[in-house]
Amino acid sequence: MKSNLQVTIESHRFVPRDIIGGDAALDFINTVTGRDRSPRDWLDRYTALLEWAALVRLLPENILRALAKKAKSEPTSAAAALARAKMFRETLFALITGIVSGSAPPKPTLALLREHWIAGINAHDLRFDDGRVVAELRNDAVNFDLIASLIAYRMVEHVLTLPTDRLRICHGPNCSWVFIDSSKAGRRRWCDMTVCGNAAKSRRFHARLRQRRK
Ligand SMILES: [Zn+2]
Repeated sequence: MKSNLQVTIESHRFVPRDIIGGDAALDFINTVTGRDRSPRDWLDRYTALLEWAALVRLLPENILRALAKKAKSEPTSAAAALARAKMFRETLFALITGIVSGSAPPKPTLALLREHWIAGINAHDLRFDDGRVVAELRNDAVNFDLIASLIAYRMVEHVLTLPTDRLRICHGPNCSWVFIDSSKAGRRRWCDMTVCGNAAKSRRFHARLRQRRK
């Protein structure tokens, strides 16, 4: 987020349309929209983070329920964990924008990612099932930072292993959502063609019209 921009924190009902990143780790970054102009942060309380996690199926329902219960009885700790998650989210946005522009991430960025990633690994058990070894979330991994830990785990294991030229930042006005371009041609520029693609196209159209009228 540009530091001089005022961030509005608002209540938001997460819907499937908000999930365009190609991986939950990127969709987590997209819980802030409009970073380039008028940033709006959709995580207004810890339970919003749980609602988002439910939509992207980051956690099984029993753990989500346990976290919701815990947040009710320990609101101060939940709020502190939300603040940590948001700080981590902004670090991840800076990491992705850095990668897209080809710059090396600062050491504290990688240190914070590593810290959450290790917590994410610790939240898993390895089990032998149906002839293969699978990593599975532990049932006792109920702590407020679990979502940030799993985001870090996904970021390191699934997103940062992809070809970097497939990581994108939406070109749409007042958007800046990040996503994986998994299109065959590798030319996806918008988070969503019907939202940002059309907005940008109509802006270009009107700009051309204005020029012609001069
Ligand atoms: Zn967009």
